[in-house]
Amino acid sequence: MGRTFMPKFRTERELKKIQLEGLQWTVQHVYKNSEFYRKRFDEAGVKPSHIKSLKDLSKLPFTTAKDLQEGYPFPLRSVPFEKIVRIHASSGTTGKRKVLCYTQKDIQDWANMFARCYEMAGLTTSDRVQIAVGYGVWTAGVGFQLGCERFGAMAIPIGPGNIDMQCQFLEDFQSTVLCATASMALLLGEEVQKRGLRERIALKKVIMGSERSSDAMRARMKELLGVEHVFDIPGLTELYGPGTGLDCIYHEGIHYWADYYILELLNPETLQPVPPGEVGEMVITTLRKEAAPLIRYRTRDLTKLIPKRCSCGSILPMHDRLLGRSDDMFIFRAVNIYPGQIDHILSNTEGVGSEYQIHLERKEDGKDYMTIKVERAEGGDPSQDSLLAQKIEEEIKKQILVSGKVEILDYGTLPRSERKSKRVFDHREF
Ligand code: ZN
Repeated sequence: MGRTFMPKFRTERELKKIQLEGLQWTVQHVYKNSEFYRKRFDEAGVKPSHIKSLKDLSKLPFTTAKDLQEGYPFPLRSVPFEKIVRIHASSGTTGKRKVLCYTQKDIQDWANMFARCYEMAGLTTSDRVQIAVGYGVWTAGVGFQLGCERFGAMAIPIGPGNIDMQCQFLEDFQSTVLCATASMALLLGEEVQKRGLRERIALKKVIMGSERSSDAMRARMKELLGVEHVFDIPGLTELYGPGTGLDCIYHEGIHYWADYYILELLNPETLQPVPPGEVGEMVITTLRKEAAPLIRYRTRDLTKLIPKRCSCGSILPMHDRLLGRSDDMFIFRAVNIYPGQIDHILSNTEGVGSEYQIHLERKEDGKDYMTIKVERAEGGDPSQDSLLAQKIEEEIKKQILVSGKVEILDYGTLPRSERKSKRVFDHREF
């Protein structure tokens, strides 16, 4: 292997030094060049010179999605327009899109980060990468493409959908890596099986963009496509786009590029750090971003840090898969619970579908009760319902440390929604 995109540092100490330098550069840069940040810093009474150690990060004000929307169309801009070479925007489900701008150096950094993903996944320059994610104003397609070219593998840009062409490319070009959403990869897998192509294709790996995915989905993907590894790639438009981390072949967690950004995990209520290994909101501060740097940006995404060194030996720290959104958190018997935690348990339980509802009630005894309504899998056996319910109740107790009652419903009973379904129904009166 020739060129490497892995970091040069070897110790925690060296990483901290890189982070402090990046942080100090970033605060000076935004204070000098961004009206938005200067105003925020002044309101918080903090000056760039106050940032003397990594601990001083906690003195800095937060940035939120609302700030991005209020600053539309060029929020957080910290360089003159002549230095901006590209913009991207999130698809934005509510209100205005989040628009982020990039300098030439930002694009270079992003390419290097993404190339590191391919290296982390064990690719070589002989690999052929079929890129079946969306191209357009959002960051997906162009990010995968840029990283692939920087890394030196062969990019096959096809975009999503178009199953006939996907199958043809898999066979004719002997693609070794597929980049797709989980649902797209599964769909393609089913098609490969239907057409009897499995023995005629050369796929070894799938890199999938983060959306809900369970261990069962991964197992099915491996079986249908005959791949050895399925990797998870996080992607946040505000933070360049996809390519800011990846799990390695040991799949013990998602390594993240701590030399490009600092990840804090905070309790979304108190905004204080959660103990290592506990669920918190991902809050991001970039270390090198020029055009639209992030200072303590509240992503609302929840995950945990994995406080151990990975079996691969990499110095790059790890976080878990995303466990949902902090806006969805509820408190039940003094425990903070995220629907994502319930979702995680259900999606790893065989025999249940993907639709569920969480109902919270306060009964006469003054105590709170939780009922989880979940559909049986399509074609599942109703005689197994009570066993299944018991199994899920035990997992909830084990993993979330609370008791809940599980009701299994017929497949198709719960309402479907094109948009995000409502999961939590709080009937308690406060
Ligand atoms: Zn690893």
